[in-house]
Amino acid sequence: MNQGTRPPIIGVTGGIASGKSTVARAFADRGIPWVDADDVARDIVEPGEPALADIVDHFGTGVLQPDGRLDRRALRQIVFNDSEERRRLESITHPRIRRRLRDELDDMADRHPPYLLLVSPLLLESSQQELVDRILIVDIPESLQIARTVERDAVDEAQAHAIIAAQIPRAERLARGDDILDNSGDTQALECQIDELDRRYRALDFPLSS
Ligand code: ADP
Repeated sequence: MNQGTRPPIIGVTGGIASGKSTVARAFADRGIPWVDADDVARDIVEPGEPALADIVDHFGTGVLQPDGRLDRRALRQIVFNDSEERRRLESITHPRIRRRLRDELDDMADRHPPYLLLVSPLLLESSQQELVDRILIVDIPESLQIARTVERDAVDEAQAHAIIAAQIPRAERLARGDDILDNSGDTQALECQIDELDRRYRALDFPLSS
């Protein structure tokens, strides 16, 4: 990749159900490509991938389903309340996720879009932020986050609370963003903000000064 001419990469993040995927689709409607870190995180633990072998080496075959695929629920149960085991898991997965993301972003950049997106719930909690030039936070108040999580996922309010409590606090997330998208309004309010951001991102010069 030619460092001098590559398109800027915008990292899009936010808490659960803040609207990251919705925002990514709105940018895609404007011709902007995106890489989804969740998809990549799933791909790198498919059967046959070295990350899965390393996970089984450390956590045992109890984290495998009968068909040999990763049993995410079993693994989540081990690491949810054990920070040392979680760090161990992250040391297996994060470098591989980052490498795969970089490859996918490079491939997309070769097609010369005006800019591109890396959409990731863990952008701020991982070294993925090294891959991006600007950070866009998709933000909604916690009450709405809970309502949209309960409506979308098969969880109750208490479970939604627990998921939110395990994520980076809202104030810290906001403080680390270059741009903030307020997604507490309706679709029209969202589209207006995307239009404005799209204009600004298309006008970004690379290398970026901020
Ligand atoms: P994330 O990818 O951050 O988890 P999603 O994009 O899946 O979040 O959005 C979470 C839920 O909220 C989805 O059901 C989506 O349709 C809904 N949603 C997103 N933005 C809005 C909005 N502006 N108004 C109403 N519902 C929204």
